[in-house]
Amino acid sequence: MKCDTCGREVPVVKRVVIRENYDRTLSRAIYNCPDCYQKKAKTQTAGK
Ligand SMILES: [Zn+2]
Repeated sequence: MKCDTCGREVPVVKRVVIRENYDRTLSRAIYNCPDCYQKKAKTQTAGK
């Protein structure tokens, strides 16, 4: 599988759902390697 954020080829990716305008129809799923996934999780919690 390929990470959508850094483009690296990794054995395991995590699915991340990006919400835009709190509208489910605009949500899209991307796949991140563990590194990018943790970075995203951190920035999301930091923004709240
Ligand atoms: Zn990545």
